[in-house]
Amino acid sequence: MRRKDPKTQLSSSRALLEIRDLNLDFGTPRGRVHALRNVSLDVPAGQVVGIVGESGSGKSTLAYTVMGLLPENADVTSGSILFEYKDLLKMPTQARRGLLGDHLSMIFQDPMTALNPVRTIESQMIDVQHHEQGSWGEKRARAIDMLQRVGIPDPQSRIGAYPHHFSGGMRQRVCIAMALLVKPTLLVADEPTTALDATLEVQIIHLLKDLQKEIGCSVLFVSHHLGAVAELCDRVAVMYAGEVVEQGAVRDIFHNPAHPYTRALLECDPGRIKKSTRTLPTIPGEVPSLLGTKVGCIFRTRCRQAFDRCGQENPVEYRIGVDQVARCHLLDKELLVSV
Ligand code: ATP
Ligand code: SF4
Repeated sequence: MRRKDPKTQLSSSRALLEIRDLNLDFGTPRGRVHALRNVSLDVPAGQVVGIVGESGSGKSTLAYTVMGLLPENADVTSGSILFEYKDLLKMPTQARRGLLGDHLSMIFQDPMTALNPVRTIESQMIDVQHHEQGSWGEKRARAIDMLQRVGIPDPQSRIGAYPHHFSGGMRQRVCIAMALLVKPTLLVADEPTTALDATLEVQIIHLLKDLQKEIGCSVLFVSHHLGAVAELCDRVAVMYAGEVVEQGAVRDIFHNPAHPYTRALLECDPGRIKKSTRTLPTIPGEVPSLLGTKVGCIFRTRCRQAFDRCGQENPVEYRIGVDQVARCHLLDKELLVSV
């Protein structure tokens, strides 16, 4: 069987996934929507990296770009996505498709995106193992074992059921089982718990964490939910209007946020609000239109600390600590080193 443990294949100084200066537009009748702007991000081997930000900030677009599952009107205008040192954007379509499954696997927000409604779970879980060696019986046994691990009761008989026989939470467990059955090198999870209630969300996050540790895969975890990111992730990238405005180790970003947007996002997190309230706070203002060229900082229309320079120049990335960078002119001080 092919060796897939990234830790044995990659040098420790390079990340498993290296996204560099990625720019992506969507063509629309109203013009080009600049959905990703100069996005640079690493996912180190064996680590979980969270992507957070308000709706429309480009989180899903980034996840789908990594998976090569973009709609036809998407146009990657520049940048690279190095996965195991190879640029996915330059790879022939066939070779890229060949990575899906045991190298790159995805969990979608809606489990029905991944499941075929007219086929049994059994046939879908066996198909997903097409890269693996072993007889039909061995693959079936592995599938049952994985269903057991994700908490599907009576997997011996439930494996013969169709997706609509399962509840939403159970369907998402089946999808997690399918995505992890082939022990992918990188798992991309796009809001996998958003459609679930709070109790189920906690269960699924713990499950993902246990399985990730066991398999040793890396995870790119897209979420609105800061609590889930704090629980699951080692690193986090904060996106706003198509840009990564701050990134670093979860503990640094959550305890010492440097970008005004990260601070605003954390202030609105229901998990951090101490006083009882009937209305949850939101960041005043709206995410700006992504049509056309922008001059200056993209967050300035909502930033309480904006000053003249913010309207004239887009901030570069400043290093704040060993493992934290942010894009804000306020960080441009002599003691801070521009990266
Ligand atoms: P959410 O949390 O709501 O899923 P998101 O952060 O994942 O939001 P995206 O869905 O990636 O954001 O969208 C980023 C921007 O790209 C938005 O302005 C969105 O309207 C736009 N967009 C996404 N898909 C398309 C498309 N197929 N055609 C045109 N614009 C698109
Ligand atoms: Fe706010 Fe200016 Fe910093 Fe942008 S660069 S986040 S507008 S202070």
